[in-house]
Amino acid sequence: MSKIFEIKESGSLGRGLFATRLIKRDELILEFIGPIISFEEALQKTLDKLSCPLQIGPREYVDIQEPGVLANHSCSPNAGVKKDHYLVAIEEILPGQEIFYDYSTTMDEDNWTLECKCGSPNCRHIIGDFRHLPLDIQKKYLDLNIVQSFIAKKLLTNIAQH
Ligand SMILES: [Zn+2]
Repeated sequence: MSKIFEIKESGSLGRGLFATRLIKRDELILEFIGPIISFEEALQKTLDKLSCPLQIGPREYVDIQEPGVLANHSCSPNAGVKKDHYLVAIEEILPGQEIFYDYSTTMDEDNWTLECKCGSPNCRHIIGDFRHLPLDIQKKYLDLNIVQSFIAKKLLTNIAQH
């Protein structure tokens, strides 16, 4: 199977993933793989800028490895994380385009935020927890099924209780 993306420099973001051919909507791009680590370990790795762990539970992270860890954030993503571990295209991605997902779809920790300079017209400038996203964007991501399941489950539980 030929690779559908390549790793290239992405300006100020460092390295990123770029499509090498047309990627169709709903097509699998990669699986996020790595050891499972705790919140404390994830925090330390982030502070030391060693890695950028992917949150998969309230206190549980995957210390994702290359190439998945190189996928950059955008506030106008063309991909999303499905079933907690799979990067999937949410629209057609043309050859040469960079592949992005919205990091907020995986974040619920009240711990850190990240400055965003993605440059998209609807850039939020701060990347934070999913629940702080505007409601229309939350709904869009939930409808696309690209919100980590522990976050989606928590939201549904909250709605059921109110
Ligand atoms: Zn942005």
